[in-house]
Amino acid sequence: MTKHLDVFSETAELIRTVGKEYNYKKGLLESFIIPDRIVEVKLPIKIDGKLKIFKGFRVQHNNLRGPYKGGIRFHEEVNHEEVMALSLWMSLKTAIAGIPYGGAKGGVIVNPKELSEKELEELSKEYTRKIFDVIGPNTDIPAPDVNTNPKIINWMVDEYVKIAKDRKLDYSEEALYGTFTGKSIKNHGLDGREEATGFGGAVILRELAKKLHKSPSNISVSIQGFGNVGHFFAKFAEGFGFKIVAVSDSKGGVTDKNAGFSNGLDIEKVYSCKLEKGKIADCYCVGGVCDISKSKSLSNNQLLELPVDVLIPSALGNVITTENMDKIQAKAIIEMANGPISPEAHEYLSKKGVVIIPDILANSAGVTASYLEWRQNIEGIKMNNTQVLSELEKILTNAFNDVWTESEEKKVDLRYASYGIALKRLLGNP
Ligand code: NAD
Repeated sequence: MTKHLDVFSETAELIRTVGKEYNYKKGLLESFIIPDRIVEVKLPIKIDGKLKIFKGFRVQHNNLRGPYKGGIRFHEEVNHEEVMALSLWMSLKTAIAGIPYGGAKGGVIVNPKELSEKELEELSKEYTRKIFDVIGPNTDIPAPDVNTNPKIINWMVDEYVKIAKDRKLDYSEEALYGTFTGKSIKNHGLDGREEATGFGGAVILRELAKKLHKSPSNISVSIQGFGNVGHFFAKFAEGFGFKIVAVSDSKGGVTDKNAGFSNGLDIEKVYSCKLEKGKIADCYCVGGVCDISKSKSLSNNQLLELPVDVLIPSALGNVITTENMDKIQAKAIIEMANGPISPEAHEYLSKKGVVIIPDILANSAGVTASYLEWRQNIEGIKMNNTQVLSELEKILTNAFNDVWTESEEKKVDLRYASYGIALKRLLGNP
């Protein structure tokens, strides 16, 4: 709990610091920081025939730029302080991406692995029934987050549409499906949502290379985490011509450091090898061939400390801290995970000249794809995968360039510039 209070206080403190520099009145900043509404709901569900009460939350941070927007997580350690901090991040993230949304987040205190599929479905539907009155296609639009996925979102949206029809809400059926994003493609979802976040990160890497006047083929990249974000980041960055020289998952990783980072890994081969062998550490694949005998496997900490041009933490929060910050050799870091660098390490590395692309910009293609999914439902249109990626590319490129320009003009780091831009878009000119 303290950790989450810390995240909220740290974010609030940065808003105060940046806001003061941009001449916003203290009262306006304090009023912005506090969420508009915190809803706590009781969720009675039968577990093994006995009634058990779960607790859920929805925090609506602000709707200054459009409907509230943010995911729902199912986790034993969810609490309203955590959801509050995440909702504030969402307000900043949607403003930086320049999409017409506010910020929100939801959660249920539960370990979903302890429930049967039927119980999980009932819990998801009960949560939807309990927050029904505060969500809607133009009010608040939830999405998946930790431990929630398209299947769970499908249960929720189907329940929402059923009740909305019973109550004869004045929306088309397709628009009602816009109340949730992250639905499966077959259930009014978006073709491109799955790869969106990793793709967006790769677009940002490409834009960064342009700013640094370097060709992708001369840039070495290491990636921690090879899940949804890390894998698609690697795939698209390789497609743009970057050299991916190290990747890892929770069980360790591989690198071609012994070959002097000369080749770059073959990402699709590494991916199929990981599916087959269950871990990346056994998958040294270069030039279409996987040959573990030539590999140099490495731990996750070693991956973070490699002398690469760009490091991509895309697994967990707080992996670069005072413990290892002086060992980081990368010249740039793109924060694809949420909060991978502690505030102290951020300050240390920024002062050292490391370019850090902040999470609220770097991984914002996820929520931007949600916006496209919602727009598709509201307007009753259907976008194909190419159209989705092309639209994401435009939005992400603009967001990156706006932040870069702000950072140059104000002579501040990119995280500071991102907050400055978010405040200007949310609160208007001071
Ligand atoms: P995921 O569960 O699909 O993948 C996580 C990956 O991290 C896996 O490869 C796992 O093996 C690896 N991992 C776990 N523990 C590790 C460790 N100790 N060291 C190294 N690797 C480890 O999750 P994801 O959707 O790819 O999300 C990754 C991060 O990106 C999270 O911080 C998430 O909050 C953030 N994020 C994701 C999205 C999205 O659209 N998926 C959007 C915004 C932010």
